Amino acid sequence: MTAGLELTELLIDGKRTPAADGRSFTVLDPSDGTAIAQVALAGQADVDQAVAAARAAFTGSEWARMRPADRGRLLFRIAEAIRYQGERLARLESQDVGKPLSQAKADVEAAARYFEFYAGVADKLGGTTIPLRPGLVDYTVREPIGVSAQIIPFNYPLQNTARGSAPALAAGCTVVLKPSPEAPLTPLEIGRIALECGLPAGVLNIVPGDGETGAALAGHPDIDQVTFTGSVATGVKVAQAAAANVVPSVTELGGKSPFIVFADADFDLALSAVIGASFSNAGQMCSAGTRLLLQRGAEEFLDRLVAKLATLRIGPGLSDPDIGPLVAARQRDRVLTYLELARQEGAVVRIGGGSPSDPALADGYYIEPTILTGLTNDARCAREEIFGPVLTVLEFDDAGQALDIANDSPYGLSSYVWTRDLDTAMRLAEGIRAGQVSVNATGVGTGVELPFGGYKHSGWGREKGLEALAGYTQTKNVCIGFPSKTSDNR
Ligand code: NAD
Repeated sequence: MTAGLELTELLIDGKRTPAADGRSFTVLDPSDGTAIAQVALAGQADVDQAVAAARAAFTGSEWARMRPADRGRLLFRIAEAIRYQGERLARLESQDVGKPLSQAKADVEAAARYFEFYAGVADKLGGTTIPLRPGLVDYTVREPIGVSAQIIPFNYPLQNTARGSAPALAAGCTVVLKPSPEAPLTPLEIGRIALECGLPAGVLNIVPGDGETGAALAGHPDIDQVTFTGSVATGVKVAQAAAANVVPSVTELGGKSPFIVFADADFDLALSAVIGASFSNAGQMCSAGTRLLLQRGAEEFLDRLVAKLATLRIGPGLSDPDIGPLVAARQRDRVLTYLELARQEGAVVRIGGGSPSDPALADGYYIEPTILTGLTNDARCAREEIFGPVLTVLEFDDAGQALDIANDSPYGLSSYVWTRDLDTAMRLAEGIRAGQVSVNATGVGTGVELPFGGYKHSGWGREKGLEALAGYTQTKNVCIGFPSKTSDNR
């Protein structure tokens, strides 16, 4: 336990509580490595308790009996409270994760929007009637699936907490959410805010912890559903653990998304888009467009991008720079290892390529914005998710070749196409195997209304939008015969 830091406790059954075995971990400010919080580390006993609280709240509490419209009203209150406390939440997120303050503020707004969006849906989850034959009435009911276990990564703790819990709560489920040990602070705040807004005890439980905590939750025999967001390797383990109990899962995994720029594109718009889509949050984004596919003849775009990156300010998140530190030393070291590998693979480093030389940044976990050229799409640095501010440039001649390179990836999460030619845009939109295609836009990031999820190794199921509700509801079919027509009912 770090001296001078008060223990930030778990949130189980509406109460703040230390871990049953007394363990805790230290949260570091990634801009300089100083300790900013000491957080209780949930173990098996705490996970058991949180799942039991969520089960009791699902079956027996006022939550289970609440009118959907009242559930929606409560979620609206949470959205407003998040906005009201936005400045404080954004600063906490920025300090915990290292992201630039203005990006953390955008995350606060997105978190509020998730609660608002699903609040409006709570009383609209109706079923259908199905025509069978005279004497029979058949209808469906969409029922909440039950206790939802949610495991989230470090890069968007505020957004991911809201993205998973808001649709689950709107559907009438209860939730046990495990944040990353590298970013546990704002999920606990959302849990606290929800309680203050009147969410009954046990409906939303927050249990920060490590991989063991996550494994205890994913494999728990008394959960009904798992939503996992994180890496492919962990996602496979989580899905296997859930499947062993015949529990369904939604998996939101990694990406190596193509950002395709044709020579006829509006370079001004595409330039600011590629900075946002590839270097926000220091590139720690699942949807990051980290393969820049550039049409031969569009070299000016690359020159302008390199010049623009040279002007970006690097610094602590709270100073609202363009690029903040990576979340942890291990994440910085992972990126440095990839940069070393890139050189071995024959990459030319057009800009960046390591940690910044500024002595004021020496204690933080920073990586310069980096552009690698000279690689082909079979290089590991073009295929694997680096998860830092690193862009690999690949060249193509025509739309067919761009499509081949875009699809030649184990991942299929997002994609970005920049061209003024409608035929080219439509051909790419139709042909790209990914969950999202943005044409002359970067729509996937902040829109809570649109479905988000992956093809191939980027996972299955969808979060966001109305489609997310499929993960938190199950359909019951009811068939009723009329007594006066019983002879027809066989
Ligand atoms: P990670 O897979 O290391 O960890 C994710 C979560 O799983 C953490 O809470 C971690 O503690 C937990 N965990 C670790 N081992 C576990 C186990 N055996 N059982 C259960 N839980 C376990 O990922 P990360 O480094 O925190 O995040 C980066 C990854 O997340 C990237 O691959 C990124 O692309 C992905 N991501 C995907 C999306 C999306 O929506 N598709 C969004 C954000 C991040």
